[in-house]
Amino acid sequence: MPTPPQQSTGRVYLVGAGPGDPGLITLRGVECLRRADVVFYDYLVNPQILRHVPPQAERVCLGRHGRDRIMPQSEINARMVAEARSGRTVVRLKGGDPAIFGRAAEEVEALRAEGISYEIVPGITAALAAGSHAGIPVTHRDFASAVALVTGHQQEDESAPELDYAALAAFPGTLVFYMGITTAGVWCRELIAAGRSADTPAAIVRRCTWPDQETICCTLQSVADEVEKRRLRPPAIVIVGQVTQVAVESWFEQRPLFGQTVLVTRPSEQGLELADRLHELGAAALLQPAIAIDEPDDWVPVDVALARLKEFDWLVFSSANGVRYLMDRLLSHHGDVRKLENTRLAAIGPRTAETLANYSLKADLTPPEKFRAEGLAAELVSQAAGRQFLLARASRGRELLAEALTAAGAQVTQVVTYNSRDVETADPEIAAALEAREIDWITVTSSAIARSIVNLFGEKLRKARLASISPVTSATLRELGYPPAAEAASYTTDGLVEAILSAQP
Ligand code: SAH
Repeated sequence: MPTPPQQSTGRVYLVGAGPGDPGLITLRGVECLRRADVVFYDYLVNPQILRHVPPQAERVCLGRHGRDRIMPQSEINARMVAEARSGRTVVRLKGGDPAIFGRAAEEVEALRAEGISYEIVPGITAALAAGSHAGIPVTHRDFASAVALVTGHQQEDESAPELDYAALAAFPGTLVFYMGITTAGVWCRELIAAGRSADTPAAIVRRCTWPDQETICCTLQSVADEVEKRRLRPPAIVIVGQVTQVAVESWFEQRPLFGQTVLVTRPSEQGLELADRLHELGAAALLQPAIAIDEPDDWVPVDVALARLKEFDWLVFSSANGVRYLMDRLLSHHGDVRKLENTRLAAIGPRTAETLANYSLKADLTPPEKFRAEGLAAELVSQAAGRQFLLARASRGRELLAEALTAAGAQVTQVVTYNSRDVETADPEIAAALEAREIDWITVTSSAIARSIVNLFGEKLRKARLASISPVTSATLRELGYPPAAEAASYTTDGLVEAILSAQP
């Protein structure tokens, strides 16, 4: 009998995810994630980094203290080997750098023993992130010419080397303790007993590069008190040495929305864009899409309209989604952009115009300001009489534009180019955060979203401030009994972000 073809063995990539901020992973790390069939990730890894993983890939969280089952190291090794054997590309994604207190050596040994090929992709370790994001450089021309990375975690494994406190106390440079929060009392006492001055300046840097980063300057003697008084939980590093005296308030903590948590309720893809913008300004952005967008229930009316496109003088888009769904349909079923040769294009606002530009199309008309149906109507009515208009709209939307154009003598055809429906259940973690007043702002970018969040959260909405994109949305919020705390002056997401910024103390 012929032997079955040998299945080729997959590869394992041990990838450093960096300290938390999703932008702080290497390009090589992202390349590995993009080709992964299965990703084993630590709970310290920012889940946003998993955005790079193909949707069909399997994601395995290796556990979080007090929440899930923690997978023992032997089982992690065995699963990586088994996955690679079956021909899959495996990414083992670790917080920081895989080789700094990351058990890279043990995993490599297991892979080598089984003849599995592997690659290690470095990451930014927590101590280095303190230099960029917490204003504490671990080396300094005047204060420290050497750095030691130390574990504050007493190994359960008795064969592991004990810390030599005398040597550490005498170390001529900066000491950075990892995993030393719950054990701070012990190692600080030992260091002092071994001769390091109790007054040595120190800093605790918690959740470095995350939106809730904290930096606490203290002395070696007071580390444990600070941990207790502030009930600090891991992950945090403790930096011991003169360099902590040069700590300045970091650019990172000075960003205008640092410390604020904003809930973004737009549908996923656009929600991500707004979340990125808020993140850049320092906020923690959470996502709870209040509306889901998908294909229209029926493409026939759209196809009929697209088939007679040349009869229309104007094609009017009142959202970026409208552009995307209509243009994708045109390109997949009706030819290409030349079909629009004789049709003028109107866009409700700059985002819609930008989305047209992604299809190499220029809007002939965008209202000069305000960006809502009234503005578009005002611009179009003067040239409406006797003209044919095609309006690309959502399954629910305002009738204002169609009515205004018809009243001005136009022939109006409306087609539903995408379906918008309410999301019916809230993510329980988001609901709990809202209840606990951990969310400062909720963005409300349409009346439909206003109604949906009231269904999703009800009275809990009073525990955060609502930021509305326009007077129409604000009016809906007021009608529903939840008046907004801020309203955009320009009815775009940029305007909304501006409104939140100006409402800061
Ligand atoms: N491989 C990781 C370290 C893993 S050990 C790295 O290179 O960073 C886990 C410890 O790392 C935590 O207990 C904490 O001491 C430290 N740590 C990881 N991420 C951190 C962060 N964002 N801020 C502060 N400390 C962090």
